[in-house]
Amino acid sequence: MSAPSINLNRAGRKAISVVLPVLNEAASLSLLLPELAAALSRCDVDWELVIVNDGGCDNLEEVVARFERQSMYSNVQLLRLSRNFGKEAALTAGLAAARGDAVLCMDGDGQHPPELIQRMVAEWRSGHDMVVAAQSDRKHENRLLAYAKQRFYRFLQSGERFKIPPNAGDFRLMDRRVVQALMRMPERARFMKGLYAWLGFKTSIVPFAAAERTAGCSKFRLGQLLELASLGLTSFSMRPLRMVSAAGAVISLCALAYGVYILADTLIYGNPVSGWATLASGMMLLSGIQLLCLGVIAEYLGRVFEETKQRPLYILDECIDHSMVGQQELA
Ligand code: UDP
Ligand code: MG
Repeated sequence: MSAPSINLNRAGRKAISVVLPVLNEAASLSLLLPELAAALSRCDVDWELVIVNDGGCDNLEEVVARFERQSMYSNVQLLRLSRNFGKEAALTAGLAAARGDAVLCMDGDGQHPPELIQRMVAEWRSGHDMVVAAQSDRKHENRLLAYAKQRFYRFLQSGERFKIPPNAGDFRLMDRRVVQALMRMPERARFMKGLYAWLGFKTSIVPFAAAERTAGCSKFRLGQLLELASLGLTSFSMRPLRMVSAAGAVISLCALAYGVYILADTLIYGNPVSGWATLASGMMLLSGIQLLCLGVIAEYLGRVFEETKQRPLYILDECIDHSMVGQQELA
């Protein structure tokens, strides 16, 4: 953990860091930042913003500078990663830089309503270490995709001792203890929803209806979603490997039974062994299944390879910390 817990301004007041990972969201942020400042000022806390530019190439700096000029209370850290590392890495960079007693993670596209923050802070103050905002309806999401996600999370958790709250994402408030525990997890495979759930802690769920994006479109294409699903599976579940073993056992039993049947058919009824077509298609089916199983094993092996390289999760290009400016303005 790089940064200790501090009170950002007045002694004795709790401080909240808001981490916003963004990739070309300047247009949305210009609307979101004033709303966020207004919502936070209603919470009776000190606060800072940690905006992580995940390799975007828009006018984010300008938008943040304008917000700082217009805002009475400016306390912003603007981190720029050296390229696009993905949302999970950007979130980790933000969490490492956050200095509040609690950290709120939210998207920068305006889909996470700032009005919910007051309620989340109240839940945190009442003793919950993690306050998770869960989407009560997913009307902005493709129906099929929402269903696939639901099935995926059910599969991922079956037989596991941790539970990923349904429809929960990265919009959550975490006490510093949770953030510290999260940062102690050394793995490169940052499947955040799984990591949060694995940690445990006293959790409260707050339902919310996600808004439409205020600008731009989702950064997650189908390919990236599949990649994220594979990351989640290989870093949190051994089930695919067990399914491969189970498939091998079932196919072997079937092959054995078929062999006994052919033997009996030949010895008892004297039917000659025939059917090259059956043989050929059986061979092709089995080689397909074998390759599929190898692919599953290779996914896990690839994950081990990634972990052994021990590369940093992200590279910080620049960190502009305006928090001192905020403190001077308030004094
Ligand atoms: N994001 C990011 N890096 C990426 C992809 C996304 O920092 O590689 C940010 C994005 O700018 C937004 C948040 O992550 O603030 C959620 O992304 P998005 O809205 O595209 O995801 P969705 O809401 O469609 O799941
Ligand atoms: Mg979004």
